[in-house]
Amino acid sequence: MSETAAAINERDDFIATKGRRKNTIKCDADSIAGCVSQRACVYCGARVVLNPVTDAIHLVHGPIGCANYTWDIRGSLSSGSELYRNSFSTDLREQDVIFGGEKKLARIIDELVAQYKSKLVFVYSTCIVGVIGDDLSAVCKAAASRHNIEVIPVESSGFIGNKSAGYRAACEALLKLIDPVDRREAAASRKINYLGDFNLAGEAWIIKNYLAQMGIEVNTVFTGDSTSATIKGAAKASLNIVQCAGSMNYLAGKLQELYGIPYTQVSFVGVEDTAKSLRDIADAMGGGEYRARAEVLIRRETDRVMPVINKYREKLAGKRAAVYVGGGFKAISLIKQFREIGIEVCMIGTQTGRREEYEIIHDLVTDGTVILDDANPAELERFMTSQGAHLLVGGVKERPLAYKLGIAFIDHNHDRKHPLSGYDGAINFAKEVYSTVCSPVWKYTASLGGD
Ligand code: SF4
Repeated sequence: MSETAAAINERDDFIATKGRRKNTIKCDADSIAGCVSQRACVYCGARVVLNPVTDAIHLVHGPIGCANYTWDIRGSLSSGSELYRNSFSTDLREQDVIFGGEKKLARIIDELVAQYKSKLVFVYSTCIVGVIGDDLSAVCKAAASRHNIEVIPVESSGFIGNKSAGYRAACEALLKLIDPVDRREAAASRKINYLGDFNLAGEAWIIKNYLAQMGIEVNTVFTGDSTSATIKGAAKASLNIVQCAGSMNYLAGKLQELYGIPYTQVSFVGVEDTAKSLRDIADAMGGGEYRARAEVLIRRETDRVMPVINKYREKLAGKRAAVYVGGGFKAISLIKQFREIGIEVCMIGTQTGRREEYEIIHDLVTDGTVILDDANPAELERFMTSQGAHLLVGGVKERPLAYKLGIAFIDHNHDRKHPLSGYDGAINFAKEVYSTVCSPVWKYTASLGGD
């Protein structure tokens, strides 16, 4: 078996080692049958994007198991309503599957609206709803007119694709909610929308604060700490900035098409990309005073955080990191951020990365780095071991893989409790990498010898 050969032959095209045989890998494709993809399902992709809308009722139309994707494992912070932390389900049973679940859905929407008085209900479709063919749109439309509120169907049945299809279903649901405005009204606004930040641990608040220091007001965030009212007014912005491209590029493209709002990609992961993003935003807003204020902020914050980061950098020399995250843009920023703290990335992959992102990743990493798309647990374990990784960065599903191998782990997803964005996030990241990689615990796991 070659160094990058997959356990399943059809996976070979999705894996490459920089400097060897292949320069490009296959991506943006359906998972191979027989592989236990680390990707979540369509419905989960939609839920990730929409759940941070804080004052909405999130109703899962499906069996109770689907409702497992709750706030508890997809956490995000709110400055107001806590309604979104509830997970509601129609709890479809055998009888509903045989005779249809539409009446039950309508009844439960009525109950929830009466009890929680929300002006917005998202109704998520799941696999079984796609099979039995409940007419979600018709039920939602009737409920919306009964209660004079927004009841939005989220067409996230499992068979329409992978997690990316769920992102798109969520974007379609958001588009239904946004009030149309005249293009001139959007162009005249001096506000921006911040797309693809879910405020998992307060990141959106950090970035809002930076932008406020630059004299820029955030109109709404998609969707961290957002409300039905802020999302409705999203078309009244003159610029969209996109952090998570995988989930939000579709919405950004649609907002440009419908309301003429341009968008630019940003990343607040790491000192280098944070500074670049602040400069890009200032320039997109017209430069001048915006750029001057951005420079003041960048200088002050860089001077503050770099001595701290350099202290950790000395302690981390020689360590190697494996990265497996959702989107390509985050993966790119993480390569640079690891470089800032003196760590080499030896394995890197994503669930939904695009060709152009993999090209950048390929250019950034050093020879010998394994690059892989839509990996499965067997591949991640194999390459973490063969590449000599001391640390894995991933999400909740990757955590046990690392710990089983006696490798340190950092959650860069919904389970984390401190922000990893911006300058404070860069310090948090360096500190967490240091405390986990250099923890004395690893010498004890090594001595167990895998027994
Ligand atoms: S049944 Fe379908 S929608 Fe529900 S969690 Fe499983 S894959 Fe996702």
